[in-house]
Amino acid sequence: MIVLGIESTAHTFGVGITDGKKELANEKVTYKTTGGIHPREASQFMGKNAHVVLENALESAGLNIKDIDGIAFARGPGLGPCLRVGGTMALFLAKHYNKPIVGVNHCVAHIEVGKWELGYKDPLVVYVSGANTQILGLAGGRYRIFGETLDIGLGNAIDVLGRSLGLEFPAGPKIESLARNGKRLVELPYTVKGMDLTFSGLLTAAKKLVGKETPENIAFSFQETIFAMLVEVSERALAHTKKREVLLVGGVAQNKRLREMFEKMVKPHNAKFGSPKPEYNGDNGFMIALTGWKMLNSGIAHDKGKLNVLQDWRTNQIEIRW
Ligand code: AMP
Ligand code: MG
Repeated sequence: MIVLGIESTAHTFGVGITDGKKELANEKVTYKTTGGIHPREASQFMGKNAHVVLENALESAGLNIKDIDGIAFARGPGLGPCLRVGGTMALFLAKHYNKPIVGVNHCVAHIEVGKWELGYKDPLVVYVSGANTQILGLAGGRYRIFGETLDIGLGNAIDVLGRSLGLEFPAGPKIESLARNGKRLVELPYTVKGMDLTFSGLLTAAKKLVGKETPENIAFSFQETIFAMLVEVSERALAHTKKREVLLVGGVAQNKRLREMFEKMVKPHNAKFGSPKPEYNGDNGFMIALTGWKMLNSGIAHDKGKLNVLQDWRTNQIEIRW
């Protein structure tokens, strides 16, 4: 079975193709902006580029649309106008070519592609992207959320600080390189509430340092504090669940300092630590295709008459039947 997957939750429009074993194609375009993502503008950008990405994916796989056995699309969570671009294309392809269609949860897809690449079976998952920050693990047939942010996502917090420092979106890589040259650790609010996290107080305090401290010291202090909060909660989840693998996924997982902190944390727990390669940590169509393949293969399909995207679809609402 060959499945084509479409990603369009936020800034990236991607099309991936898989036979369930290998990546056959993974093409994308990404909407660039200096401020935050403007949902309507991002969706218009996607609408303009969607057909080209689809054609490129089929071409790089050496396939015709008729060779595709099933269509998968990211149904949520994400920005409504963007989700509808991918959803509309998926529904059109499924109806026009008479293929089964399945709606994939974007967060579950990040987890599945990470497990697939690293060969992990039952990891504690730390999912850190622009909008999401969750510590999860499979229990009773679902990815249960052990802890999460109560306000903004970790990546968004980094991007907002970046904007105050005059950096372009996404600011993560630039904050990371500034932080490497930080010399002084400024004390900032450290807010862990049980198993949950809040970032807004820390962010406000860090923004107030702009002009008073060097950008390097601000970036360094911010990263050290916010990452320590995340690692603390993750360690508690690991100790409690006694899982043997820790998987760090999502855009912020690219950060080397964060990976280093996780590597140190897992050692005394005799757990493995891993994170996917950049192409899979960023939003991409292949992870949607791969998860869609698993869903279709286990008999789950979507009603072709319906296309209601789910902007706030929670990770723990999905039954993991594969
Ligand atoms: P996603 O939402 O999964 O596409 O991830 C995008 C987020 O990842 C943005 O908020 C980026 O700023 C962030 N990001 C990307 N690279 C890095 C990095 N090296 N360090 C920290 N954050 C990063
Ligand atoms: Mg994502």
